[in-house]
Amino acid sequence: MRNPLGLILGCVVAAVMIAAGWLFATSLRGDQPAPQAMAAKAASPQPSASSAKLASRDSTNLTKDDLDITGSLSGVQAAPPAPLALPAPQKSACANPDALGVARVVEIDTTGGPGFGFEHFKQLDFLVDKEVVLSFDDGPWPGSTPAVLKALDDECTKALFFPIGKHATYHPEILRQVLAAGHTIGAHTWSHANLNSKKLSEQQAKDEVEKGFSAVRMALGTAPSPFFRFPELQHNPSTMTYLGTRNIATFSCDLDSFDFKRDSNADKIVNTVMTKVDKLGKGIILMHDFQKHTAEALPTLLRRLKAGGYKVVQMKAKTPMQTLPQYDEALLKEMKVQPASTRPVSSVVQTVSQ
Ligand SMILES: [Zn+2]
Repeated sequence: MRNPLGLILGCVVAAVMIAAGWLFATSLRGDQPAPQAMAAKAASPQPSASSAKLASRDSTNLTKDDLDITGSLSGVQAAPPAPLALPAPQKSACANPDALGVARVVEIDTTGGPGFGFEHFKQLDFLVDKEVVLSFDDGPWPGSTPAVLKALDDECTKALFFPIGKHATYHPEILRQVLAAGHTIGAHTWSHANLNSKKLSEQQAKDEVEKGFSAVRMALGTAPSPFFRFPELQHNPSTMTYLGTRNIATFSCDLDSFDFKRDSNADKIVNTVMTKVDKLGKGIILMHDFQKHTAEALPTLLRRLKAGGYKVVQMKAKTPMQTLPQYDEALLKEMKVQPASTRPVSSVVQTVSQ
């Protein structure tokens, strides 16, 4: 009798354990999003959070966990996804199937003030063969900057802009167009002073740097990238040290288009850039959106780069520029001193007798 009884008891215990296990598993599934929520998510993808995340990062760094976490949070919560700290412009579809485009986006950690461009800095060799970075100085300027933007947009490609602070205060709306088009914006001093000139004190050189960034910030209504280019590529050692303490990256170039020369024209610019890039095989190209001939040359130059098998790399900063409040405030005061142009004519000029 003992053995049959033991067998029956054993069966009862086993049945109870199976039932308990099934109940536990059911309760776990209840914590997960309802299948309907996941299906709705799949049927109407929300491009804002996930595609901004994709656009702002090298896709090779994305792990399955990144995507899964974003997906399940969006599925559970009814509220829209929280905005990202560094919003990336929406990636619009490219209308040109044969566009030059952007092959790669690199994110730069500017801690300590790294230098780029082999003409002066050879430590950071991050471009591979046939990769180029397009860069434009001295804007924003009416006519030429919008034409440069159009040429870049027609090829669905992105560039790096180093505006002059004063120009940014003259034409803030043009600089905002540069930002809206998704390009990267640094700064190029307040007044394009040669910071290596003996006429300038160390403090005056710092003022040129800081005021330039504050002016770009004021024009954009948001912080630019901590990317700086010295006027005329005149690197001043003490200013370089200062830039390092401010975590601002310095940009030289690998090849100069010489588009600023007096005898420059569109054909010469295209030939100069293509000859140099074919010789070097890659590099950061220095141009000027301030120059009319550069705007004229750009559509052909971008086509030639594409035909030559070159690929564009866009450089972005990991963190935005932290401008100094004293320069932001001083600039605001200085701008207010200028004649106000906001008053309507009727409030200034009244016809009192005819
Ligand atoms: Zn310049």
